[in-house]
Amino acid sequence: MRPSPPSPNESLETQLKESERRFAQAFRYAAIGMALVLPEGRWLQVNDSLCAMLGYTESELMSLDFQDITHPDDLADDLALVGQLLSGERPSFHMEKRYIHRDGHIVHAQLSASLVRDESGEPLYFISQVQDISERKAFEDALFRERELAEVTLKSIGDAVITTDPNLIVTSLNPIAEAMTGWPSHEAVGRPMDDIFQLRDPLTRRPVPNPLIAAIGKNSIVGLATDAILVHRNGFDSPIEDSAAPIHDYAGNVVGGVVVFHDVSETRALALKMAHLAHHDTLTGLPNRALLTSRMEFAVSVAARRNQRAALLFVDVDHFKQINDSLGHAAGDALLQEVARRIRAAVRADDTVSRLGGDEFVVLLPHIDTAADASVVAGKVLAACSAAIGVDATALSISFSIGISVFPDDAQDAESLLRNADTAMYEAKMQGRNGYRFFNPAMNERNTARVRVEVDLRKALARNELTLQFQPKVDTEIGSIVGAEALLRWQVDGEDVYTPEHFIPVAEDCGLIVPIGEWVLREACRQAERWSRLYRPLSVSVNVSALQFQHTRFFESLQAVLEETGLHPTLLELELTERTVMEGGEHIVDLLRRIKSLGVSLSLDDFGTGYCSLSYLKHFPIDTLKIDRAFIRDVAWDTDSAAIVGAIVAMGKGMNKHVLAEGVETMDQADFLTSTGCSQMQGFLFGKAMSSREFEERIAAIDLGDPRVAP
Ligand code: C2E
Ligand code: MG
Ligand code: MG
Repeated sequence: MRPSPPSPNESLETQLKESERRFAQAFRYAAIGMALVLPEGRWLQVNDSLCAMLGYTESELMSLDFQDITHPDDLADDLALVGQLLSGERPSFHMEKRYIHRDGHIVHAQLSASLVRDESGEPLYFISQVQDISERKAFEDALFRERELAEVTLKSIGDAVITTDPNLIVTSLNPIAEAMTGWPSHEAVGRPMDDIFQLRDPLTRRPVPNPLIAAIGKNSIVGLATDAILVHRNGFDSPIEDSAAPIHDYAGNVVGGVVVFHDVSETRALALKMAHLAHHDTLTGLPNRALLTSRMEFAVSVAARRNQRAALLFVDVDHFKQINDSLGHAAGDALLQEVARRIRAAVRADDTVSRLGGDEFVVLLPHIDTAADASVVAGKVLAACSAAIGVDATALSISFSIGISVFPDDAQDAESLLRNADTAMYEAKMQGRNGYRFFNPAMNERNTARVRVEVDLRKALARNELTLQFQPKVDTEIGSIVGAEALLRWQVDGEDVYTPEHFIPVAEDCGLIVPIGEWVLREACRQAERWSRLYRPLSVSVNVSALQFQHTRFFESLQAVLEETGLHPTLLELELTERTVMEGGEHIVDLLRRIKSLGVSLSLDDFGTGYCSLSYLKHFPIDTLKIDRAFIRDVAWDTDSAAIVGAIVAMGKGMNKHVLAEGVETMDQADFLTSTGCSQMQGFLFGKAMSSREFEERIAAIDLGDPRVAP
């Protein structure tokens, strides 16, 4: 008997079953992760790829919601999109998100989802496709790091670099290019290259065509031209050497150009060496605050662009002062060196470990996924010092207090990040030390160190707790005191409440530095006038902050103080920093000239720690360079420091400037300085800052003796 043919219904049913079976298989064996998900988030059906990707078995996964295994930082975005599907605002969405694998690692995925509804329009389930893009992410990461490395290199390289688009519109300047052209990059970017980079012929002074025109036109590298003059925005010249090249895309099209140049005056090699010294702490060899600041700013801009986190650990050695006081400076230094080594060894190569000064270290973690990563590092740093440190045959056990702040959770910029980490560190100390604390805003309200200082400072002003002390400046050639630097003190019963390094930045921040600075100026002039009346003419040096100097009324108040106190203007010297002078803009040169025309002298304080644009120095009417004590510290044994100081003295003299060395503590240092021809010195060897009464006793007693042998 022949089998009867299938009824039409039967055949439809089989076809349907067959199609369902095929679909189910396709779902199950698809190479991409697939799932059906109930509106509230429970997995309804998942395929093998998805299970493999996330590390769960099918039944494990089905007992979870997608929320359970979504990275907490991506959940809000995901839920918002899901909400839009449910409300009908959009039919589907795509997003990049992170899942947490069963073993805890992060899976980067591309999720596509749409919503299926029943006939009445009620949501039934989502259809989700999940593609593992971890590999692509890793590749992007590698690419990004490469770019970052290139960017860091550009920032720290000793040459100036400017890039443009094919139409010669500036697209970037590195910091050296900013200093050499006088154009900060935020103003330069978007302008024609010719505005920023103006070259002249050294003989005819005629404009020289921009080398980029030839480089881009010929699509080839234009080699070093050695005889051009670059004109700074403020009108100064410097001889430079430059080369220009086109930038290509992967297909070989010209997409822009780059000019690399440097100062070829004899000061450049010196400037490079100084830049290294100025950016590193001589005791530990770690980056110092200046370099940390630029690394932090960079890390923050990168993290912001990538939507990532970065963290700062503010590390302070517990009870360091006691250790230092009881064992002496040398032991304290050895301890800090070992601490530096151990912290460095506890973190990754691309983390920055910096010493801010004293016993304060900062660790910058430029890439972290979650705040918890920072606590892991903090734990490692704490552990690094659990073994005692051997110093002078003494085994010292030390501990740290660590404050952590995270970008962007705790602060949006480098400076606040550091401040908040400092605040959190302070809390860690308060909580019994040897531990770490994450910053939280409540700490700020309670106790920000800064706010506390500001409040106290206002009270101190009212109570006249600020005083001036005077540190002798000597000339070893003449063998006597030639003047004094006025140094501000905030003391109660002879004890420092805060050191100037602590409270002056606060006074600058809140603007109090203007009235305080005016008071300092008046008081210092009053004293110097008294000295010249009672003893002999001695000059007084007064530190002037950038903010105070740039204040519109500075010149008038200076004139008024001179008039009021009757001090001969030649006995007054103002100490400015390189930053104040270099960053002040065009009117600064004019202001400096006007001050000089009164007869007042000008000196550059902390010389060598700023921009090192030595070749511009001759354009400023500065009388004296005060070599920063960081350079003096090691001259007696470190040949690099000695060479630098020797060169600064020679160069200063070549430019007809006086040179004074600050921070002279030992006879060896003094002897070395004398041998280089630097006879003006200031430092503990000749006397610490003292009250005006003590200073007067000193000049009365030792006027004719050698200050070095005087008590
Ligand atoms: P500065 O102008 O570079 O002052 C020299 C600092 O070095 C002083 O610290 C002084 O005590 C210290 N010093 C002097 N000799 C030695 C030495 O041989 N070895 C060592 N290690 N240090 C030495 P001080 O008084 O704590 O002042 C710190 C800074 O605070 C000053 O640095 C200055 O920038 C600022 N400052 C002080 N008084 C004033 C002021 O009246 N106005 C302004 N705007 N700033 C001030
Ligand atoms: Mg000074
Ligand atoms: Mg100084």
